[in-house]
Amino acid sequence: MLRSLFVFLSKQHWAQRLITRWGFAWRLASRFVAGETLEEAMQAVEGLARDGINASLDHLGEHTTSLEEARQAVSEILRILNEIQRRGLPANVSIKLSQIGALLDSEECYQNLVTILENARARDNFVRVDMEDSHLTQLTLDLFLRALADGYDNAGIVLQSYLYRTDADLERVMAQGARVRMVKGAYLEPRSLAYPSKKEVNAAFDRQVERLLGATQKAGCPALSSDGRVPPVLAVASHDPKRVEFARQTAARLEIPAEALEFQMLYGIRRDLQQQLAKDGYPVRVYVPFGTRWYPYLMRRLGERPANLWFTLSNFFRK
Ligand SMILES: Cc1cc2nc3c(=O)[nH]c(=O)nc-3n(C[C@H](O)[C@H](O)[C@H](O)COP(=O)(O)OP(=O)(O)OC[C@H]3O[C@@H](n4cnc5c(N)ncnc54)[C@H](O)[C@@H]3O)c2cc1C
Repeated sequence: MLRSLFVFLSKQHWAQRLITRWGFAWRLASRFVAGETLEEAMQAVEGLARDGINASLDHLGEHTTSLEEARQAVSEILRILNEIQRRGLPANVSIKLSQIGALLDSEECYQNLVTILENARARDNFVRVDMEDSHLTQLTLDLFLRALADGYDNAGIVLQSYLYRTDADLERVMAQGARVRMVKGAYLEPRSLAYPSKKEVNAAFDRQVERLLGATQKAGCPALSSDGRVPPVLAVASHDPKRVEFARQTAARLEIPAEALEFQMLYGIRRDLQQQLAKDGYPVRVYVPFGTRWYPYLMRRLGERPANLWFTLSNFFRK
């Protein structure tokens, strides 16, 4: 119920105007967002690297409304790739296709994607294409698979276990040897498209992780690249200890070495688990969002765990 409310609010411009004017909202957001500038984000990435943790940087912004804005988003992503290389950091980038024009002109969006992939490839870096809500699932997969077919094997995709279609999509992307980040799914989807119960989503997540670990084994267990940028076949992106444990045990049963299974978590969430997994020898990557357009991202995080709001509010009033 509360989750639906927050995800609904994430798309309302009136709510965005109202909430972002409130100083407390940034205080809340700053738990999940590394800062508003690239410099602040880079400092967060350097801090993670000191703990042996890799990063994926996301310059926040989605549902771009003009092609000019989409081109600016591309320039910003290229600036991040340049900065990662300049500082020699173990980081790659995550992008959203709606940020680079998917809702305006799919061909222009593809050309923008190619520009980013070319630039990343020249720097031996990797680009993860985030998955957005179900209006964009097909287009995202089509453009991603087109990029793979055009030879851009430095791109990876995200699949959401809550969608009924994901088992079939997984087979499609695995057939092209894609690198996959598995997530449960963060948007509000109708019962006609997505499992309504957590139990079913968890079961789908484990099933898909097992399938991808099978593919990892078949591919000879390619490990994380030595510079920490190009991930293995599977990235398990969840803070749910049961999902993490299932992936670990399945990998052990299949005799997949730790370096061939990446765990990913969001900036500011379950730092204890991130550090534990890194200590246990697994590649761990933290998704580091930054920028001024943090409102929809914050709303989705609050929707996953409304207790975050009460916790920060009570601290605020206690002070
Ligand atoms: C690296 C990464 C990238 C992602 N990319 C995408 C994407 O491209 N598309 C997409 O739809 N979704 C994406 N997600 C979000 C994902 O779909 C889930 O909404 C999110 O990860 C919460 O699900 P969970 O698996 O952690 O399990 P849950 O069952 O939601 O949570 C398990 C436990 O994790 C902790 N936790 C979870 N969320 C929070 C929170 N917000 N604040 C504090 N504690 C929390 C709590 O302890 C909770 O009990 C991404 C997630 C990660 C980690």
